[in-house]
Amino acid sequence: MKNITVLCGGMGGARFLQGLRHGIASGSLPAIDDGVTITAITNTADDLWMHGLKICPDLDTVMYTLGDGIDPGRGWGRREETWSIKEELVEYGVESTWFGLGDRDLATHLVRTQMLDAGYPLSEVTSALCRRWQPGVRLVPMSDDRIETHVAIADDEAPSGRRVVHFQEYWVRLRAEVPAEAVVVVGLDEATPAPGVIEAITDADLVILPPSNPVVSIGTILGVPGVREAVRGTSAPVVGLSPIVGGTHVRGMAHQMLTSIGVEVSAGAVGRHYGSRQGSGTGVLDGWLVDASDADQVAAVREAGIACEAVPLMMTDHDATAAMVAAAIALVGEGRSA
Ligand code: GDP
Ligand code: CA
Repeated sequence: MKNITVLCGGMGGARFLQGLRHGIASGSLPAIDDGVTITAITNTADDLWMHGLKICPDLDTVMYTLGDGIDPGRGWGRREETWSIKEELVEYGVESTWFGLGDRDLATHLVRTQMLDAGYPLSEVTSALCRRWQPGVRLVPMSDDRIETHVAIADDEAPSGRRVVHFQEYWVRLRAEVPAEAVVVVGLDEATPAPGVIEAITDADLVILPPSNPVVSIGTILGVPGVREAVRGTSAPVVGLSPIVGGTHVRGMAHQMLTSIGVEVSAGAVGRHYGSRQGSGTGVLDGWLVDASDADQVAAVREAGIACEAVPLMMTDHDATAAMVAAAIALVGEGRSA
C-alpha cells in the first residue's frame, strides 16, 4: 500500500495518525510500504478569527501532535506554553477569556495570518508551517474557503429564545453542557475542496475514517461539495473506526453533536449514519469497526451492507492504535478493490 488517506478532526485524528505512523515504523503493519504517503485531509470548520488572527484548531492539533510540539496533558496547543499576551489582553478587557491563546501558539497564528494576507491559500500556508514541524504526513485542509460550524442553543434572554454561537465558543466556553439544538456549517455549500483533496481520495489505496467526531469533524469534510462523491467513487476500500465506545464518546463531544442531528449515540448507529457504499444512496463505508464492548451491534451494521467486526478501539497507546489499523485492513482487504 503506497497511499493512505485519512479524513480527520483534531485530537482523535491526531492520536490515530500517531498510531498509524508508529505501526508502519515498527513493522507491525506489513501491508503498508515503508515509503507510504499518508494524506490527512483535516477539518477546518472549527477555524475562527480572533484579534485579527486566523486560528485553525484541528490543523494545529494534528501538526503539533505529529511534530512533537503538542502539550500532551491538554491535548491541544504548544508544550511549555506561557500566557503573557492573554493576561495582558485581559487587563485591557478585550480578551475573550474563554479561548486559550498561548504565547508560543500565537506565533503560528501570526505566521499563518501574514501568509494569508499576502494571498497564499490555507493549503499552501499549512505546507509552509509543516516545513518546521515535519509531521510525517501530508497535512491538507479540507478546503481553502472559509467554513465555520455554528451551534444553536436555547437562550431565554434572546427574543427568539435561541442564540447561535461559534462551535469553539460552544465547546470551549460553554463546555458543550447546554444541548445543541442545531448545527449549521456556514459556507459549506459554496466551498470547494482544497487542491489535492479529491486526488488524495481517488488515488488512495485505502481511505480511513478514524475515530473523529462524525458530525463536526468528518461530517463537515464529507459535506464539502465533491468530497462525499469522491469517497463513494474511489476504487480504494473505505473503512471507518467508531468514535463511540460503549454508548458514549471517549473524549470530546461526539455525544452532543450526534444528538443534535438526531442520530442515536451508539457505535452501530454512527456506522449506519455513514452508510454503505453499495447501492444508490449517499453512504461512504465498505467496513466499520466497533469496540469489542459493542459486539452486539455488529449484526445491524452488517445488515446495512457494511462489513463489521468488534475489536478493541481504545487508543491507549500507539501499539493499541496500530492494532486497530491492522484490524481495519483485515476487514476491507489490502489495497485497492478490483
Ligand atoms: P477534535 O477535533 O479534537 O474533537 O477531535 P476528533 O474529531 O478527531 O475526535 C474526537 C472524537 O474522537 C471524540 O469525540 C471521541 O468520540 C473519539 N475518540 C477519542 N479518543 C478515542 C479512543 O481512544 N477510541 C475511540 N474509539 N474514539 C476516541
Ligand atoms: Ca475539532
